[in-house]
Amino acid sequence: MHEPPIQQIVCCMGQPVSGNPSQFMMERAFAAAGLDWRYLTLEVAPEDLGDAVRGMRAMGFRGGNFTLPHKVAVVKYLDRLSEAAELMGAVNCVSIENGELIGENTDGKGFVESLRQMTDPSGKRVAIFGAGGAARAIAVELGLSGAQSITVINRTRERGEALVSLLRERVEVEATFVLWDGELEIPAEADVIINGTSIGLGDPQARLPIVADSFDARQVVADVVFHPVRTRFLREAAERGCKTLDGLGMLVNQGVIGFRIWTGVEPDRAVMREAVEEFLEV
Ligand code: NDP
Repeated sequence: MHEPPIQQIVCCMGQPVSGNPSQFMMERAFAAAGLDWRYLTLEVAPEDLGDAVRGMRAMGFRGGNFTLPHKVAVVKYLDRLSEAAELMGAVNCVSIENGELIGENTDGKGFVESLRQMTDPSGKRVAIFGAGGAARAIAVELGLSGAQSITVINRTRERGEALVSLLRERVEVEATFVLWDGELEIPAEADVIINGTSIGLGDPQARLPIVADSFDARQVVADVVFHPVRTRFLREAAERGCKTLDGLGMLVNQGVIGFRIWTGVEPDRAVMREAVEEFLEV
């Protein structure tokens, strides 16, 4: 009798998950690699998360991505965490190996992999706007990648100071907090400047309260926001001669890392970037 192979499944759990380009990107990458895998997007309410994670294991899923609001809550349902996920206390990528649920955080790694295409983070002085989930993941990963110092600039003092304490005490990197309470000059000594806030999301004209003329042409400037791709922050930096890195690079690279973790295969990055651009119509 003909036995059809069992299709391998990974999923994305969030709330809501609509408008998420990951499924489009991953399924294109599976097809390009000749893998008969599926990537399901599943809307899961916070109170159902434990059941949903147990269901992944019961149904033989190979893993999954976790988006808001589950990145922190999912940790308690996992068997072990990578070093970075443990430091961040947040997981966006789970793999299931021999029935064991392993949590990783690929947001920061995706950013660093994207940054490496432009500059080596080792020895660099970094300034990051924001101290939420994305900024935290990026700052920890840059610290682990050998950044010389990290300046955290945030509107809410407690959140910014908590990230600085984590960086100093657990990641052991030089870190400073700057309160963001008005138009701020870009720190002149920084080599890499990152917008890790949600300012600019869905609004090409939204501006960070910064003095745009304080960008220095030698600085590499990056944004986590990927929709629109050319944010005002990046446009203002590019106009002053800076090299810029858009949020799509981070998105695609976190997908590349997840793909590698689940399948053990190196995906075609260009296919993934193309798929995301097609999805976002850019
Ligand atoms: P969080 O809600 O955890 O954090 C948001 C951050 O933005 C906080 O530091 C907040 O400051 C700051 N912020 C928001 N509005 C303002 C404002 N008006 N003025 C000053 N600061 C502000 O969100 P995430 O970290 O999860 O996500 C941030 C962005 O990163 C989103 O746009 C998301 O789409 C993007 N992202 C991109 C990824 C990619 O692959 N490219 C991956 C993950 C996220 P405060 O602490 O003061 O509230």
